[in-house]
Amino acid sequence: MAIVSSITNHSCLPNDKGEERFVGSRLLKEEIKLSKQDSFRPKSFKEFLGQSELKKVLEISVKASLTRGEALDHLMLYGPPGLGKTTMALVIAEELGVKARVTSAPALERPRDIVGLLINMQPRELIFVDEIHRLNRISQELLYPAMEDRRLDLTVGKGSSSRMRSIEIPPFTLVGATTKPGSLSSPMRDRFGISQRLDFYNYLDLEKIIKRSANLINLSISEEASHQLARRSRGTPRIANRLIRRVRDYAEVHSSSSIIDVQVVNDALELYRVDQRGLDATDRSYLGLLINQYEGGPVGLETLAAALGEDSTTLETVVEPYLMQIGFLQRTARGRLVTPVAEKHYLLTSPNKIEI
Ligand code: ADP
Repeated sequence: MAIVSSITNHSCLPNDKGEERFVGSRLLKEEIKLSKQDSFRPKSFKEFLGQSELKKVLEISVKASLTRGEALDHLMLYGPPGLGKTTMALVIAEELGVKARVTSAPALERPRDIVGLLINMQPRELIFVDEIHRLNRISQELLYPAMEDRRLDLTVGKGSSSRMRSIEIPPFTLVGATTKPGSLSSPMRDRFGISQRLDFYNYLDLEKIIKRSANLINLSISEEASHQLARRSRGTPRIANRLIRRVRDYAEVHSSSSIIDVQVVNDALELYRVDQRGLDATDRSYLGLLINQYEGGPVGLETLAAALGEDSTTLETVVEPYLMQIGFLQRTARGRLVTPVAEKHYLLTSPNKIEI
């Protein structure tokens, strides 16, 4: 399967200050180049670990479309960054035996970008559009008839002599990925035959991913060490893979042992200030503010954002989902509220005592 990629803007700038976050789930600048030939990326349903419900649904759809010899229905994948939306799209193309074209909404700003993409397709190809909620209205309107009737409606000429021309295009599958399904326009949402959510991974699945990745780079890792790494990966394979690379670097410099043990993991991640639950300084400032200044809440999102000097959308989409996932935070009608387990963890790893 060939992959044609034109993703332009996939980096991790989690806050207004433009700082990259080590445990952020978006790609770091240094990872963008690597991501094109990501050696950790699973290539089949079998290699794609975890997300069993999602896999079941998609395996059936893929088998059915292969049996019928038709293009797979358009598919929307949604969920936080780094959970495997791009990977799953590429797995599907591989399983279907078709070419995948990978792009993102910011690369499809002009109508001619979409036209160029659709007009050169071979039958049954898969087009992956990341951040599809960011497509502008004109691009969306070009996509609607293409998705529904395999038709591109183009305006030819200018002014009073302009007219509409329809071009037939081959059957294809659009896989749209988004971290914000609520921001997708409803006509766009309606055109996806299948819509599936990716959830944060549990520790067991993350451990399997860590062992697989370690194996791929010939790294020996103890059971306990892979368990520790899984606990600190924030439910996200991208972060798990990033931690493995950093632990390997650390071990090459500081360890004489050929096997990564739990001590190496602890020492390496202390250096990167990632605590036992995968929290970093951003999470701790967020929790600290709620605990120390607002007695645990409830506090409104805008108040928190202003006090932290962060954008509220960043807090909502980047910082809070994982804190909620591990039961550290509740979003209530009256504002954000920390849980007793978060307070306990915060006190043990408080700002003066970031050690793990
Ligand atoms: P997204 O598109 O959701 O941001 P990606 O598909 O780019 O996430 O996945 C991030 C990285 O995590 C990939 O490079 C891939 O190597 C790894 N990965 C994702 N999902 C899995 C999985 N289920 N099993 C193993 N590795 C995975």
